[in-house]
Amino acid sequence: MLSAFHPMKVGVLSETLPGERRVALIPDVAGKLTQSGFEVVLEAGAGELADFIDEAYRRVGVSIEADRWALLSTADFVLSVQPPRLEDVARLHAGAATISFLQPATQAALVEALAERGVTAFSLDLLPRTSRAQSMDALSSQSSLGGYKAVLMAANRLGKFFPMLITAAGTVPPARMLVLGAGVAGLQAIATARRLGAVVEAYDVRSAVQEEVQSLGARFLELKLETQESQGGYAHEQSEQFLTRQRELLTEHVAGVDVVITTASIPGQRAPLLVTAPMVKGMRRGSVIVDLASESGGNCELTRPGQVIEVDGIWIDGTANIPSTMALHASQLYSRNVSNLLQFLVRDGELKLDFKDEITRDCCVTHAGQIVNERARQLMEATTTQKIAQTEVRL
Ligand code: NAD
Repeated sequence: MLSAFHPMKVGVLSETLPGERRVALIPDVAGKLTQSGFEVVLEAGAGELADFIDEAYRRVGVSIEADRWALLSTADFVLSVQPPRLEDVARLHAGAATISFLQPATQAALVEALAERGVTAFSLDLLPRTSRAQSMDALSSQSSLGGYKAVLMAANRLGKFFPMLITAAGTVPPARMLVLGAGVAGLQAIATARRLGAVVEAYDVRSAVQEEVQSLGARFLELKLETQESQGGYAHEQSEQFLTRQRELLTEHVAGVDVVITTASIPGQRAPLLVTAPMVKGMRRGSVIVDLASESGGNCELTRPGQVIEVDGIWIDGTANIPSTMALHASQLYSRNVSNLLQFLVRDGELKLDFKDEITRDCCVTHAGQIVNERARQLMEATTTQKIAQTEVRL
């Protein structure tokens, strides 16, 4: 139990990014925090788009605050899915803390403002992917939703059954699907497509995933390319020569399937280009590509982030923020991740930071007026350099 004299005040913000339907804390998890001695305050209506009404929060001891500025200025810990806005940061008090998908690579000005304001900011996208941090791993929980929904989106658009059917009107062959990138999202996509009866092939640069792919009933494509040993579970950046050869070898596989789901990414880098425009044109009319890497540049050359387009009869779906389309379960899983991190960071009603612990060290971005995270700094600098390079090219 926390101190009875000054419970830590946890504020839950309404999301403001257009299309964001998730909420950082659902009533069930908020109730558990109040029972553990936290005071929880919800910005009015914050859970509505995920189907959690204010009344459900009230019932578990959460208070509702209609005034966002009042919530921001009095909260000790602010929780959100998307990062807070610059104008929000100006209302936080020095010493307050936040947890969100801060994404320092694209939020340099915000990170600097948080540091200047003396806010301690934690970024869920920098959490180490270790077994200790698994219960807090919001990247994984949300990727899993993305992989599942991508298959449903493809099935919905494809003018074919996924399973094989033997009917009085003849036999229908199963749909064929290729998954590029078999990480968390890719494996969930494989499992979902197999449940629907599709024949699935998958490829990843990390040879370690071969067994996982096969255990889900899919075929692992063995391309004549060097495989990578994982670096802490992740792929590292590939050379242009590697990617060119990879695209050549993938061309016939892409042409032979009805659906391609791409999920390949390298943390902190632009997503690798795996499917070129000529490869898309080699697909049959009516085929579907769902590009889960659309927000980090896309694995398909023709992907338009946030849009679904049709090119010569082939659909390319670059829908952004797919987890948000399943806001209820996305929020439930996110809530548990956030609440686990919060309870790891707070002891006896106070933020207790141990920078020798890799969880704290990796995901704490700003603290005591400083940007304390070297990786966040590198990501911010890499993006600035890229922007300068793009401007020079345009000039
Ligand atoms: P991610 O979203 O960064 O990448 C998705 C996949 O794309 C990865 O499997 C990567 O190898 C693959 N990829 C990159 N370049 C490629 C290319 N050119 N061609 C084909 N595939 C390519 O990764 P993720 O899904 O967030 O996680 C990756 C892995 O990290 C997981 O599968 C797991 O092994 C590990 N992980 C561990 C934990 C844990 O231990 N707690 C948690 C999460 C993830």
